Amino acid sequence: MENKQEKPTDPFKPARLATSAALGILNENYYNALASAKADGKPVIWITSMAPIELIYAFDGIPFFPENYAALCSSRKVAAEFCETAEGSGMSQGLCSYALCMFGSIFEKRGAFGDEGVDEPDILLATEGACATHPKWWEAMQRHFNCPLIIIDAAYTVDGETLPEHHKSYLAAELEKAAYKIEEYTGKKFDIDRLREVVSLSDQASELWDDIDDMRAAVPTPITQIDVFTCLFALVTLRGTKEAVEFYQQLRDEVKERVDNSVGSIPNERFRLIWDLFPIYHNMRLLNYFAEFGGAFVTDLYGNAFSGRVDSSDPFNSLAERYLSFFMRSASWGKSELYKKRIEKYHVDGIVFHSNRCCRCFSAEQPEISQILRDELRLPSMTFEADMVDPRVFDDAQVKARIETFIEMLESRKYPK
Ligand code: SF4
Repeated sequence: MENKQEKPTDPFKPARLATSAALGILNENYYNALASAKADGKPVIWITSMAPIELIYAFDGIPFFPENYAALCSSRKVAAEFCETAEGSGMSQGLCSYALCMFGSIFEKRGAFGDEGVDEPDILLATEGACATHPKWWEAMQRHFNCPLIIIDAAYTVDGETLPEHHKSYLAAELEKAAYKIEEYTGKKFDIDRLREVVSLSDQASELWDDIDDMRAAVPTPITQIDVFTCLFALVTLRGTKEAVEFYQQLRDEVKERVDNSVGSIPNERFRLIWDLFPIYHNMRLLNYFAEFGGAFVTDLYGNAFSGRVDSSDPFNSLAERYLSFFMRSASWGKSELYKKRIEKYHVDGIVFHSNRCCRCFSAEQPEISQILRDELRLPSMTFEADMVDPRVFDDAQVKARIETFIEMLESRKYPK
C-alpha cells in the first residue's frame, strides 16, 4: 500500500445497498399509515426517543417521532426555515434543534414535503430516560395541542452493567402505568399477549441489527455509516412490527454477502474510524469526504441506541432493563469502556467527535471520552462543531480542513515513511 495518501480527483460516491429500495417502500408505507391513522381509527402517539414504542404497537397505534421528523426536514433542506419560524415566536436558537425545527413545522402547519405536515397527536408520550429536554418539550407541545400527556420517569444510571434492581422495577412499574393510561385515553383494552408479540418482534429486529453491527468488524467493512444511519429508520419507527424484522433480514443477508465476498463499502479502505455521535442530517455527504481519503466508519454507538434484546415472557421488566441500559445514559467513563471494547474488536485507527452544538448534555462529555481514549489507548481523535439539524452554523470549508489535518495525522501514524 502506498505511503502517501492523495485525495482522488473524483468525489466518492458510495454504491447503494439494494436493500435501500425496500427502505423507501417502508418509509412510504409508514407515512401513508400516519396520514390515514385518524380515518382508520388508530391512535397517533407522539413519542420521544427511548420511549417504549412497543406499547404503541400493542395498542395498534401509530408512533410519530418528532426527532426523526426534524431529521427528515433537515435532509430535505427545510429545517432552517422551520428553525427561523420557531425563533420568530420567541424560542432560542440555542434550543435543541430537533425541538426548534418541529415547533417551526407545527406553527407553520407545513411538513417536510411541502405538505401540510403531520396530523395532531391523540396522546403525547415522553420519557425522562434520554435527556431533560424531552419532558419540557413535550409539556410545551401539550399546551399547544391540549391533548393527554404521559411522562415516564426513569432513574439515573451510570451504565448498563451496574443497573440496580430497584431502578429496573421502578421503570417497569412506570411502563405498566403508562399502558393503562393509554388504555384510558384511547378506550382500547390493553392486551398483555399482544404486547408479548410486539416485544418478540422488537427483539428479533434488534438481534438482526446486532448481527449487522458485528459484521462491520470485517476488513474491509461492508456497510457505510450513511447506510447505517439511513437504515436505522425501521429500528427507530417500526421496532415491534414484522415489517422491521423482514427489512433487517434482507439487510443482514445483503451485508453478509458483502462480507463473504470481501466487498468493502468504500473502494480503498485505509483508516478505520468511529463516528461519535449524532448524524448531520443536512450534510450526510460529509461522511463521504472521509472516504475520499480511505476513511471508513466501522462502528458507532448511536446506531445501537435503538436496538437491545428483550424477553417477551417478561415484557415490562425486560423493556425497563433495555431502556435503562441505553448507552447514552451511561456516564462518560461507561461510554469510554464501551468504546474501548469496540476499538479492539473493530480494529479502529481513530475517532471523530461531532460536537453537536444544540445537544449540550452529550457534547459536554466528549472531551473527557477523547482524553480517556488518548491516554489509555493512544487513539487519535478529531472534533468539529456542527448542528445535527440546523445547517446555519455549519462551516464546510473549516470542517473539511480539519478532516484533512486529521487524515494526515492518521497517515503518518499508520503508514510512516
Ligand atoms: S438531541 Fe440532545 S438535547 Fe435534543 S432531544 Fe436529543 S438528547 Fe435531548
